[in-house]
Amino acid sequence: MPEPSRPAAPSEPTAGRIVPAPPPPRDLSEEHLDAWGFRDTAFRVNAAGHVELTGARYPLAGSEMPDFLPWVRDTLKIEVDLEPRRPLETRPVPPARLDPAFREALAKVLPPDAIQQDDALRMRHGHGHTLEEVYRARYEGFPRVPDVVLYPATESQVVGIVEAALSHGACLIPFGGGTSVTDALRCPPGEVRSIASVDLRRMNRIRWIDPVNRMAEIEAGAVGRHISEQLAEHGFTLGHEPDSVELSTLGGWIATHASGMKKNRYGNIEDLLLDVRAVTPRGVVSRSEPGPRESVSADPRRWMLGSEGGLGIITSALVRISPLPELQEYGSILFRGFDAGLAFLYELQGQGAPPASVRLMDNLQFRFGQALSPRRAGVAKLRSRLERAFVTGLRGFSPDEMVACTLVFEGSRREVAEQRRRVYALGRKHGGMRAGSSNGARGYQLTFGIAYIRDFVMAHGVLAESFETSIPWSRAGELCAAVKRRVHQEHARRGLPGVAFISCRITQLYPTGVCVYFYLAYKGAEGERPYEVFAELEHAARDEILRTGGALSHHHGVGKLRKGFLPRVFSEAALGWARDTKRALDPHNVFGGGNGAFVADAPEPTPRV
Ligand SMILES: Cc1cc2nc3c(=O)[nH]c(=O)nc-3n(C[C@H](O)[C@H](O)[C@H](O)COP(=O)(O)OP(=O)(O)OC[C@H]3O[C@@H](n4cnc5c(N)ncnc54)[C@H](O)[C@@H]3O)c2cc1C
Repeated sequence: MPEPSRPAAPSEPTAGRIVPAPPPPRDLSEEHLDAWGFRDTAFRVNAAGHVELTGARYPLAGSEMPDFLPWVRDTLKIEVDLEPRRPLETRPVPPARLDPAFREALAKVLPPDAIQQDDALRMRHGHGHTLEEVYRARYEGFPRVPDVVLYPATESQVVGIVEAALSHGACLIPFGGGTSVTDALRCPPGEVRSIASVDLRRMNRIRWIDPVNRMAEIEAGAVGRHISEQLAEHGFTLGHEPDSVELSTLGGWIATHASGMKKNRYGNIEDLLLDVRAVTPRGVVSRSEPGPRESVSADPRRWMLGSEGGLGIITSALVRISPLPELQEYGSILFRGFDAGLAFLYELQGQGAPPASVRLMDNLQFRFGQALSPRRAGVAKLRSRLERAFVTGLRGFSPDEMVACTLVFEGSRREVAEQRRRVYALGRKHGGMRAGSSNGARGYQLTFGIAYIRDFVMAHGVLAESFETSIPWSRAGELCAAVKRRVHQEHARRGLPGVAFISCRITQLYPTGVCVYFYLAYKGAEGERPYEVFAELEHAARDEILRTGGALSHHHGVGKLRKGFLPRVFSEAALGWARDTKRALDPHNVFGGGNGAFVADAPEPTPRV
């Protein structure tokens, strides 16, 4: 077996670079193992029969949301039981079948506490957060989970792990924050080799910050919220904020080719990434420090972006950082309908320099947000009624048509003032009405609640999931309508209870088009494995997206969930090139997670529906 070459040492901090103190030990046990997010936070039904959010982490925490359950009953045309439909069950965890020789080799490179075989931990490392995964994590379990979870703290330990896997014929699956929504962390059920999940979260240091040249070298296991906190201490931001930023990691963002909500100002992960180090079965992919822009033939960055754990383990990355903005301000605009909102976005993008984040919610999603409003009393209640009366009565906005655009402005005071003036003037031109910063802020805060809500409604029999795409401007409206139509047809065709909730928002703007993000929810029929029917609906929606000219994914990635669609997207030559790259870099398929195009075998095409 080929021996990996010894790595060139990671770059050292030089004069003028700031070396932040190592972060305090992070308590990973504060996270749920079988649901999204933190253990102290969950939606639940209180004694009065209303939904409330526990904990103290989020602005909504501690508030009662009396409109939510009535809204769900009314919109989905279903009954919602106040008691969970199915209590959490003790799921069987497949026994670990770790090759003793592999374990012995691991013990030579890792301290004892970095080799864990606890059942609950193994189970958690065998899944991400797709609907099926969370359902299985809570009720059914998985046919195959990792046999061991490894926590390397240095790149040389990662090299040792890869060498041990090569020598003993084991399979490795890199693990960042575990927030994948593409089944990428699932173990192939037929994998007979020992499977080790390599959790990078002990590699979480910002190695250095170069304040003059605005760069930082950060280890791959650093979690988004910690990166933000630490860079902010030195007056900087990465500006990459996926909705999973609280839990996802830098390595995961690179491996999935992620996108953050403020990409208009800071760029997507590919714009922020200046260099990457990765441990592969052929050695450490590294290079001397990159220039601001280069033409150097090979570019390892490109190989690792979207590699989905199939080519090696990303250990650190050099990223572009920006000074913290002088001002951050939320805003929102109401439009009479989705088409008016879309026309506004098109012109806004055409003007250039749109605000850091611009999101357009369709009417259903707007009403969903309203249903999650906390109970108001006294003056706040009166003000809210008056506002509603003003918008729908005096201004004549229809409650069943109007849509909301939420905004985040970031920059210097002058920049923000100029953007604010320009954006609201354009909004007025498209018939929009300024709706205040608190509504805008609430829209973004809800973002962090969505996955908690999904897990809450699942316990009450409602299945929900999001999926996304990107599409040229000229077909964006058509795509949104087509996907909604198709989902309703498929839902009705199967005689499922009630009505499907299918809603979309535009989350990212580009000169050539937009990212469209959908939510799908409906009450599942009684019975086993409700996620199978859900997968049929999602599959049909994806089919419709591709038919209308949308991308297979804008930022979630392919994983195992969408792999079967790849032959509809790429020519055989393109897929063959990816397979050849995989075989050359990883001839023994050590990184055998089986995601996306970097796999040893051609994917089974998904049948057209
Ligand atoms: C509520 C919610 C909101 C989300 N919002 C967004 C969003 O706004 N934008 C967005 O882009 N995505 C979003 N996602 C999807 C997910 O957060 C991203 O795909 C994220 O980039 C995954 O990062 P992670 O660290 O959790 O990686 P994981 O989920 O642990 O892993 C994902 C994949 O990357 C591989 N991987 C992880 N770390 C490494 C490494 N160091 N080296 C090599 N391979 C590695 C894994 O093997 C796996 O294939 C969201 C998910 C949820 C559940």
